[in-house]
Amino acid sequence: MSDCIFCKIINGELPSKNVYRDEQIVAFHDIAPAAPTHILIVPVQHIESVNTMTDADEKLIGRLFTTAKGIAEKEGLSERGYRLVVNTNAEAGQTVFHLHLHLLGGRQLRAMG
Ligand code: 5GP
Ligand code: ZN
Repeated sequence: MSDCIFCKIINGELPSKNVYRDEQIVAFHDIAPAAPTHILIVPVQHIESVNTMTDADEKLIGRLFTTAKGIAEKEGLSERGYRLVVNTNAEAGQTVFHLHLHLLGGRQLRAMG
């Protein structure tokens, strides 16, 4: 996807502060952190949102969560707690249409809504 900002990050056209990378998943610090730790966990494959996920993506989506778990451990958040968020479309505030898991932690997080 030539106009996708996360595809550009993944293929090295745009810089990012990576914390994890394998063939299927990349994780990097959010450019505008909403918490002391704010990391985005992103599939290399361009999937627009939860709405366009298919059965074929199920294993990959599972790996997004286990990768998030590992990063949370490394960041020292496992015991304290952290939040994983996926925004889907306008009313949820999705601004980048390349699926991503937000990992938020490092302070007391407010109730959702
Ligand atoms: P969304 O609102 O779509 O769930 O989340 C998109 C996130 O991507 C936002 O938290 C935003 O700060 C982050 N973001 C947008 N552009 C960039 C960028 O160029 N680099 C990084 N690292 N994060 C970005
Ligand atoms: Zn993309």
